[in-house]
Amino acid sequence: MIYLDHLASTPLDPLVLEAMLPWMRGQAVGNPHAAHPAGWRAADAIAQARAEVAALVGAQPGEAVFTSGATEANTLALLGGVPAGGGCVVSAVEHASVLGCLPELRRRGHAVAILPVDAGGRVDPAALDEALSGLPTPALVSVMAANNEVGTVQPLAELAAVASRHGATMHSDAVQALSTRALDMAALGIHGLSLSGHKLYGPMGIGALIVRRPFRPVPASPGGGQQRGLRGGTLPTPLCVGLGAACRLARKRREEDARRISELRDRLWHRLRSRLPGISRNGTADGLAGCLNVTIPGIDAADRLLDLPELAVATGSACHSGASEASHVLLALGLSVMDAHASVRFGIGRGTTAAEVDEAADRLAAALGSAKSGE
Ligand code: PMP
Repeated sequence: MIYLDHLASTPLDPLVLEAMLPWMRGQAVGNPHAAHPAGWRAADAIAQARAEVAALVGAQPGEAVFTSGATEANTLALLGGVPAGGGCVVSAVEHASVLGCLPELRRRGHAVAILPVDAGGRVDPAALDEALSGLPTPALVSVMAANNEVGTVQPLAELAAVASRHGATMHSDAVQALSTRALDMAALGIHGLSLSGHKLYGPMGIGALIVRRPFRPVPASPGGGQQRGLRGGTLPTPLCVGLGAACRLARKRREEDARRISELRDRLWHRLRSRLPGISRNGTADGLAGCLNVTIPGIDAADRLLDLPELAVATGSACHSGASEASHVLLALGLSVMDAHASVRFGIGRGTTAAEVDEAADRLAAALGSAKSGE
């Protein structure tokens, strides 16, 4: 299996697993909220993990709220973070977990604006300025740090400055950016940030919402009272410890990972281009290190990839109950429905090798029946 789907999920780093294992064996017995030594030990481990999570994004430990993942973090930010009567602005290329909150916000009477993107997938700060000017009471802006389909990186500092001028809070879904890019919330001027363990070589089923004052979303689960009442529920010690370890590792490795992974991405692109005439690249040249999204005109990517079960990549089609829909991100970039279905996303990661990248390009080209002879 050649695994080039790291934007969908990254494998657990062995060092993260090692950090988690003691907490999955006997040591995990204490409820971290219990008032006895076993509970206190678990609570200490969670406090350390919280500090690692916060340090990755330039926040304070008390600002990190553990969630079940980024979907929950985004939902808490969007559905809990827009005060009564306030308006909300998001980009057209947000993850479904953000866009899926919009009908409920509208139902509650909030004004909602969706920002278009340019052909590379970038949000224009001037367009945000205009959208906020059109809202009676701008309250929350949510724009992702980097897109999960085409890898486009958004101008967060500029967007946050515009939001602040209008008195709105800025939240960012930073799920895809954190494994290869430095991101400092205080320096960028953003007050809410979502992240996810399984996009960072950490465990699945854990993520966090970072909330810096004045951002203080209303909790979704009023009971429980854990995590300063922001998110009730017993914290899963092994998963929290794993997320902390993954964040610590990301901080140490992201620069070197970004360098190596972007070289592999470029290598993959050059090899694909030499074998598949007519292929084009989606997104921008300065996008995420590990993301390569291409369109190969005339193919149905989902169909053709069925012939390549040993190659794990993603396509520009999302399957909902058997029906295949063109990606809303590719459509927002201006691709036709046909070209969206003809698109493939490669997600390169920490463990990817040059040999894997070469073989992936060759297998794909061969499956499409257009490999040039003699290459
Ligand atoms: N936001 C983005 C940009 C993502 O790529 C994903 C995962 N596909 C999510 C949010 C949801 O994350 P989780 O799986 O942790 O719920």
